[in-house]
Amino acid sequence: MKALEEKILSEGKILPGNILKVGSFLNQQIDVEFLMQMGEEAARLFADAGVTRVLTVEASGIAIAVGVAAAMHVPAVFAKKHQTSNLSGDVYRSVVHSYTHNTDYTIVVPCDYIRPGDKVLLADDFLANGQALNGLIDIVGQAGAEVAGALIAIEKGFQGGGDKLREKGIRVESLALIDSMDDTGIVFRR
Ligand code: 5GP
Repeated sequence: MKALEEKILSEGKILPGNILKVGSFLNQQIDVEFLMQMGEEAARLFADAGVTRVLTVEASGIAIAVGVAAAMHVPAVFAKKHQTSNLSGDVYRSVVHSYTHNTDYTIVVPCDYIRPGDKVLLADDFLANGQALNGLIDIVGQAGAEVAGALIAIEKGFQGGGDKLREKGIRVESLALIDSMDDTGIVFRR
């Protein structure tokens, strides 16, 4: 999505550790009109997928998931993060390694919010090594639902997570796909 690439180039900041900061329009301040444009693009890409729910992880995935779900007229669900894994109740859970914080956490979704037979579109702001998506895929499987695909705002292709998921047969669509980024600039995959 050309407009997203342009926004990344004009507003994104590269931090040490291959972290791209997009707090000015997606991760802290939200450009809602632009979010809705991203949602419309996602709805166009997955128009034929029969999506019944959009699933993400709190907190940074919620904005894009809501934009996508609004355009597709389906509910958005987010997994909550917990430090411990001793949780009770009717929940699905999976352990995820955080790329940005270098820690493990448990993601939790109440069983009521993903039902057997659902076609779940995963959504996230970033895709790096694919750990967050793997946790969500695990939860969708526990629910007896189906992964319709994954919609990512910004994929860092050089970290390989997206290609591993594609090799497994998951349809991963990224609105911007970065092949490399350093002090000299950001290169998008064509
Ligand atoms: P993965 O699980 O694919 O390794 O990493 C994806 C998760 O880590 C996303 O949910 C996102 O919140 C966070 N993340 C990974 N890379 C970046 C980055 O460059 N910038 C920001 N803001 N978050 C990132």
